[in-house]
Amino acid sequence: NIRVRFAPSPTGPLHIGGVRTALFNYLFAKKNKGTFILRIEDTDQNRYVEGAEEYIIDALNWCGIPFDEGPGKEANFGPYRQSERKGLYKKYAEQLVKNGKAYYAFDTAETLDFHRKDHEEKGKTFIYNWHNREKLSNSLTLSPEETKARIEAGEEHVIRFKTPYKETIALKDEIRGDISIDASLLDDKVLFKGDGMPTYHLANVVDDHLMEITHVIRGEEWLPSLALHYQLYEAFEWTPPVFAHLPLIMKPTGKGKLSKRDGEKMGFPVFPLSWNSSMGYREAGYFPEAVLNFLAMLGWNSGDDKEIYSLSELIAAFSLDRVHNSGARFDPEKTKWYNHQYLQQKTDGELATSFMPILEEKLGSLPEHLDLKYVTSVVSLIKERADFVNDFWELGSYFFVRPQIYEEKAVKKQWKEQTPEILSKLVVLLNDIQVFDSETIENSVKEWIGEQGLSFGMVMAPLRLVIVGGLKGPHLFDILARIGREESTKRIDLALR
Ligand code: GLU
Repeated sequence: NIRVRFAPSPTGPLHIGGVRTALFNYLFAKKNKGTFILRIEDTDQNRYVEGAEEYIIDALNWCGIPFDEGPGKEANFGPYRQSERKGLYKKYAEQLVKNGKAYYAFDTAETLDFHRKDHEEKGKTFIYNWHNREKLSNSLTLSPEETKARIEAGEEHVIRFKTPYKETIALKDEIRGDISIDASLLDDKVLFKGDGMPTYHLANVVDDHLMEITHVIRGEEWLPSLALHYQLYEAFEWTPPVFAHLPLIMKPTGKGKLSKRDGEKMGFPVFPLSWNSSMGYREAGYFPEAVLNFLAMLGWNSGDDKEIYSLSELIAAFSLDRVHNSGARFDPEKTKWYNHQYLQQKTDGELATSFMPILEEKLGSLPEHLDLKYVTSVVSLIKERADFVNDFWELGSYFFVRPQIYEEKAVKKQWKEQTPEILSKLVVLLNDIQVFDSETIENSVKEWIGEQGLSFGMVMAPLRLVIVGGLKGPHLFDILARIGREESTKRIDLALR
C-alpha cells in the first residue's frame, strides 16, 4: 500500500512551491490507489505562525487535492501534528545513543561560536564531526561517569548523530539516480535539542517510519539532508522509503530560485490564497484547475505536447520517472494562459454567475433588466478575450453603462463632417427595423449603406464609437441587439447633441 505525505512546517502561507509538492504527492498517491497524508511539522516553536496550519488546509481544499489522513482526519497513524507527538521522539534518540550511533553533547553556544570563528580566521570551516569531536564536551570524549553526572545535574545538552569516519555514503534518488556523498564533510547533526524537542531530521525520519510512508516526495532543498536521513534509517535498522526530490522552481528569468519577493515585485501572486493583505491566486481570479494544471507542468511532462490536463487526466498520466531533474522556470504569462484556457471551457452561465457579484459592485446595485440571462448573453460575446472573470468588466462595461467618454484618438480619426447626418438617418432606420436581432440589423444596415452609396467604415466606425466609447469589442450588430433598440438609439442621440 502506497503511503505518501506532505509535511509542511506552519511558518506562514503556503507558497506555490509547497502546493506543487503537495500536488505531486497527491497525484502519485491517487495514481497508485494509495494514501495522501498531511503531517504538520511544528517542532520549531520559534518559527510557528498562528493560522498557518488552517491556511495550508484551506489551500489544499481550494485546489481540490484534499488529504486522506491528517489533522482532523485521524486514522491509525495519528496524531498528525508533531507537537502532539513530542513525547515520542526522545526514546528514539536515546536508542541511538545506546547503540553507539549518537551521543550527548554539552557544548554551549559560546564554545561552538568560538570554534567557528577560530576556524574562519584560519580560512577553514568548522565541522562538528570526527575532525573536532575531541576538542569538545560530549559523551564520546568524557568518561561515562562524568556524562551521567552532568546529565543528572541538569546540565543542558543535545543529542548528536555520530557521522562515520571517512566513508562514502551511497544514496538513491528516484529522480536524480545514484548519488555518493563524502561523509567527512557532514556535521554530526543535532537530533534532539536542549529544549526537549526533536529537530526536523529526527522527527521527520521517525514519523515517516511510524506512519509507514513508502515514498518521500519533496523539494530539492531537502536533498542535502538525504545523506543523514539514509544513515538514520540504517542506524535504526529500518528500511528507508523511496526518495524523490522535485526540481526547484526558478524565477521567470531562469536565474535563481523563485521567491515570495519575486511575486510581489512582478505583481503576480505566489500564494494560492490571500494571506493578510497580499493577494493570492484565488483573489486574482484563477480557477483551481488552472493552478493545478500549471503547477503539474512545473517539473513534469507526459512526454507529448499535451498541455491541458484535468486532475483525473493528471492522475492517469503521472509518474515519477517523468519528473525533470533540472529547475523548472516559472512563467507568469503561461499561468495566465492556463487560466484563459480553463475560462473558455466554462459555460456562459457559470461565468455569468461568477461575474454577477462583480457587476453588482461596479454598478452599486443591479437594475432589473440586468438579469442572469442578459449577463450570460453578454459573457458569450466577450469571454474569448478574457483571462479572468475579473476581465469582463474591462472588456464589456458598455453592455451595462453608457460610455462616459469617447476615445479621443478614434474621434479625431473617425468623426467626419457628414457623420452627424449619417447617424441621424441611421436612427430612423434602426427604429424601423421589425425584429431587432443581430442578423436583421446587419442585413438592413448593410442594405441601407449600399443604397446611400456610403462606405462601410464611414458608418460603422462612428457607430461603434458612440455605442462602445472606442473602437474595440465584438461584432457591433451583436452589441446593438444585446443592448436593444431603445438604448442603441439613445446612445446615438446623446452623441449627436
Ligand atoms: N517540514 C519540512 C518542510 O517544511 C518537510 C520536508 C520533508 O518533506 O521532508 O518542507
